[in-house]
This record gives sequence, C-alpha cells and structure tokens, in this order.
Amino acid sequence: MKKPPIIWTNVSLFTLTFASAVLFVPWYGITYGFEAIEWVSFIVLAFASGLSITGGYHRLWSHRTYKAHASVRFLYALGGALALQNSALHWSSDHRVHHKYVDNNDKDPYSAKMGFWYSHIGWMLREYQSQRYHDYKNVRDLQNDKIVMWQHRFYLPLLIVMNVGLPIFLGWLNGDIIGMLLLAGLLRLVVVHHCTFFINSLAHMWGSQPYTDKNSARDNALIALLTYGEGYHNYHHIFENDYRNGIHWWQYDPTKWLINGLALVGLTHHRRVVPQERIESARLQMQLKRTQSKVANLPNSDEIIEKLQTEYETLKSDLIEYYDAKKLLLDAKRKQLADKQLMTRVKELKLRFKQQQKNWLSLTASFS
Ligand SMILES: [Zn+2]
Ligand SMILES: [Zn+2]
Repeated sequence: MKKPPIIWTNVSLFTLTFASAVLFVPWYGITYGFEAIEWVSFIVLAFASGLSITGGYHRLWSHRTYKAHASVRFLYALGGALALQNSALHWSSDHRVHHKYVDNNDKDPYSAKMGFWYSHIGWMLREYQSQRYHDYKNVRDLQNDKIVMWQHRFYLPLLIVMNVGLPIFLGWLNGDIIGMLLLAGLLRLVVVHHCTFFINSLAHMWGSQPYTDKNSARDNALIALLTYGEGYHNYHHIFENDYRNGIHWWQYDPTKWLINGLALVGLTHHRRVVPQERIESARLQMQLKRTQSKVANLPNSDEIIEKLQTEYETLKSDLIEYYDAKKLLLDAKRKQLADKQLMTRVKELKLRFKQQQKNWLSLTASFS
C-alpha cells in the first residue's frame, strides 16, 4: 500500500529542533556555560507549556472535566502555543477521536497498536488522516469559546511570539540572548515535546492495568513524572470525565494540583470526579478477571472460580451498601438531620466492607 505524503513542515520542525538541541546546547554549555537563571527559565517554561497541554488542552478542553476563568484559559492558550502542539481546537479534536476509537488503527489518530514510533511521533509526519482534518465537528462546544478560537486563528504568530520572542526578551533582560534561546527556547521545546508525546506512546505500552484491560492504556508512576501527572492513563481512559489522573494523594499529578490550587482562589470550579464506588468496582472486577485467568489451569479450578465468584459478589454488595449509606449520611448531614443511628450503621457497614475487602485480597493474593 502506498504511504500517504510526508508533511514536510512537521518533519523539518521535529528534525531541526531535535538535532540543533542535541548539537548546540552542549556546545554552548561547554564553550560559554549556562547561568542558573537560564536553567530556572528552562524549568519554569517547561512547566508552563507542559501544564497548558495537560491542564488546558487535555483536561479542560478535550474532556471538559472542570471550568476555568477566562484568565486561566488565556494563559493556557499562550502556554499551548509555547508547547507547539497545534491549536487547542485541533488538538482536542484529535484527542476526542483517540478516546472514542482507542487502539483502532484506522480511526485512532495515534493508535498505540501501530507501534511506539507511530504513536509517539510518526502519526504527525505523514498525511495519515487528512480527510478528517479541518472538520472539527466533534469540538463544536469549543468553537463557542472565544479564547480557543482566537488562539486557533492566530496560532502562527502566537507560536513565534512565545517560542522566539519570549526567550529573546528573557535573554535580553539577563544579558545573554543566545543562552536563553538555547535553554528556555530550544531545549525546553524538545524536552516538552517528547515528554508529552510519551502519553500517546509509552503510556499505552508500559505499566499496569488496574481498572480495565479493554484498551491499551497503562498506569505508570515513572511516566507520570515525565508527563505532568498523565501517567495514570489506565485510570484516565476508563474515567475520562474525572479531572484527576492520579486519584491518590501520594500519586504525582501536578496537573491536578494546579487545578486544585486555582480552585482555592476561585479561578477553577465544577471539578468533576467519578464516585469512589465506581472506581472500586472497576478495580475489583479487574482483580476477579485476572485471578480467574490465573487459576484456570489448576486441577480444582471450577471449585476455586466458584469461591472467587461468591466472595466477589459479597464484597460487591458490601461495597454498594456501604457507599449508599454513606451517601445518605452525607445528605442527612447537609440537612442537619444526621442521627446517631445512621452514623452507627455507616460505621458498621464500613467495618464489614473493610473486613470483606481483606478476605478478598488475601484470597486473590494466594493465587498470584
Ligand atoms: Zn484524554
Ligand atoms: Zn490515551
């Protein structure tokens, strides 16, 4: 089959920026040296552009998991131009298709089933999906956002101002334009490019699948470190409407922390989260599935599978009962109607659920 035509703009952009960063940054560092302020600018701009993609393009615009004040959206639009990953409108359109048809090589724009290279960068190097582009039918809602449309319209001048103008200005302030252009401009651009591209490649290949195995998305703490918290991608693909990717406090998710920080000062609101019982049910179901397949070849597999199923059903009903009662209690508290009886019942149900969870975990662990 004939390959689609090469997109020379993208090929030259990725090749030139990568090659110049690899060549000129070390050369300049050895010959003239870099100053601490240039490294600080590198880090600040790396976070500004990376978080604009994850917090803005991804969790705000593609998935609408929260709402943000115009000032925040404006900064995301600038940061998105700095990240040089196309306009928010275009990016979100691609991303919604990715979720809808994940792993479908004909429809998912960066299907991981096409391999590492394709899902990482290859998909942008040829006109693979030209017929779909410039339609933007699946992002009609974003077309009502004036900031999104402004950024889309002026994307080219914006990316030049942000990627060339801003580093030159910072370098001029500091008295070394070339040094700043190389670190805060070039190296930062290349690093953020590949770190965010890992979300489409590595985060669909390497890691665990605690919530679902219906698609290739993985949870991986190491990838979260490189991707501003987007490494909990297995969770994200099953619960895409949740503004969090790392749901536990100990998981590294600076995008979530940013959204929470902005909420504290009233700049973001309506953060959507998936009810805890749905998260736990998904995890439970995966544990059941995995253990069932592990014991399938044992001589007494029928007996074990039956026991697993019974324990699973009990735990599931304990879980539902506990969370339902908890909801009732919360509701009652809101209406200042909470009584001792209800509180004791919730406590009892919680204890029963935790005990059954322990039984379940030791049962499944005995077969792993
Ligand atoms: Zn997504
Ligand atoms: Zn994905």
